[in-house]
Amino acid sequence: MNDPDNKKVLIVGGGFAGLNAARTLGNKKGISVTLIDRRNHHLFQPLLYQVALAALSPADIATPIRGILRQYQNVDVLMGNVRSVDFEKNEILAGFGTLPYDYLILACGANHSYFGHNEWEDHAPGLKSLEEATEIRRRVLLAFEMAERTRDQEHRKRLLTFVIVGGGPTGVELAGAIGEITRYTLSSDFRSIDPRATRIILVEAGSRILPAFDAELAQKAARGLEKLGVTIWTQSAVTHIDENGIRVGSEEIAAATVLWAAGVEPAEINNELGTTLDRSGRVIVEPDLSVKGHPNVFVLGDQANFGHGLERPLPGLAPVAIQMGRHCANNIVRDVKGKERKPFHYFDKGIMATIGRADAIVQTGFLKFGGLFAWLTWLFVHIMYLVGFRNRMLVVIQWFWSYVTLRRGARLVTSRNWKLAKRVDLANRYSMSLLLTGTGRRKAGSKAASKKASKKASKKSSGKKAKPAARKKKPSRG
Ligand SMILES: Cc1cc2nc3c(=O)[nH]c(=O)nc-3n(C[C@H](O)[C@H](O)[C@H](O)COP(=O)(O)OP(=O)(O)OC[C@H]3O[C@@H](n4cnc5c(N)ncnc54)[C@H](O)[C@@H]3O)c2cc1C
Repeated sequence: MNDPDNKKVLIVGGGFAGLNAARTLGNKKGISVTLIDRRNHHLFQPLLYQVALAALSPADIATPIRGILRQYQNVDVLMGNVRSVDFEKNEILAGFGTLPYDYLILACGANHSYFGHNEWEDHAPGLKSLEEATEIRRRVLLAFEMAERTRDQEHRKRLLTFVIVGGGPTGVELAGAIGEITRYTLSSDFRSIDPRATRIILVEAGSRILPAFDAELAQKAARGLEKLGVTIWTQSAVTHIDENGIRVGSEEIAAATVLWAAGVEPAEINNELGTTLDRSGRVIVEPDLSVKGHPNVFVLGDQANFGHGLERPLPGLAPVAIQMGRHCANNIVRDVKGKERKPFHYFDKGIMATIGRADAIVQTGFLKFGGLFAWLTWLFVHIMYLVGFRNRMLVVIQWFWSYVTLRRGARLVTSRNWKLAKRVDLANRYSMSLLLTGTGRRKAGSKAASKKASKKASKKSSGKKAKPAARKKKPSRG
């Protein structure tokens, strides 16, 4: 199918940048494309929090990459993990072997950063993949199930305390969505607990939430969150996370569910490239998005630091990745045609974040607004960017259904371990490992410690000042 005389373009990553590069190069004469991704699907990360909070199902926001690119005869798709690049030989090393290239596009995205505390991940999952989203869904829903059946009031309080670390858009969306399910969806489903009494604490190291937004809009968002029962702690750098909860300075919050939305770092492959990286590990790219000294290698999206002519480098956003993907592909086409490359310029259409039911904030140029109209704008933009007609239809139908009925259709507690799930009571199994540190596993003395911690926590939520903020890792959507 692919002419051996064609220029071979290898794309690593089928996210926003890689996929748009592949589409732009699709069916172009003189070019053969191979896209490699460690997953078989393109994931629409902006709606991941809706999977995590049971509003959508995983398949609603993910589409097989092979299916998306099937109309392009010159595009091959391979599933695999790319480990490193040999710039001398012009080949990549993947889990399945090596592959040569004439042009290489690296678009591997980003991972969570726990600021040197990777051990926190078990207790505070982040939100980057479907696995993490369904794990968060499991933890959140299971916490309510466990709270319903325990008679220990202190333990119940801990189960009904949710902490979200990081006040960027992802943290705000997660906190708002938990507020929403406790206020609306679950409010009449339980008999022993009142989900509306759930404590939701959004912890932010900086002086305010949503630092990328105008201060007035961020204030508006904070008021919206408070209406949903979210308590916001600013200037509160988390210093410890374990199975009992979190610590902020000397204060402890006993919480069964802690979610991480505080920091990201670029894909690990950056460390294997031997190119110039910025402080957060992104590859500093040239004006045409290529790597210095390697004009046939490009780095795009969350993996790249592009700062030419800008006050600060472009943030990790989907439109940045999409525009980079298209631009880079067009430059490759220009190369093949013997034309000069063009420098990349980002067209900034603005930023937005949703807070909850019928509430969002939008900032575009001089235009800043919040509330219902912002929420409708948010819905429209997300539907437009979602890949695949089927997914768009499904999401619209589910949003409409949820809006009218206040229900969420994907409230499933599922296990990742299919063999064990057949045999054991899920709640018991997970209570052992994650949720029920309040019974059985905890030593006698730690109950008192937890009591002390929840006392401190309630003191704190009533407005006591916290410890100063830790440093932020890099500009990202976080
Ligand atoms: C929860 C969340 C919410 C967000 N919300 C918004 C939003 O509302 N608006 C917005 O603009 N942005 C949002 N973002 C940011 C946006 O999703 C990213 O900026 C965008 O996905 C970056 O695109 P990318 O192509 O660089 O990377 P990605 O989309 O992350 O794609 C990277 C791809 O590379 C693959 N990959 C990684 N390493 C390898 C390897 N070694 N070998 C093979 N394949 C590899 C991955 O499997 C993945 O498919 C959000 C991000 C998250 C996590």
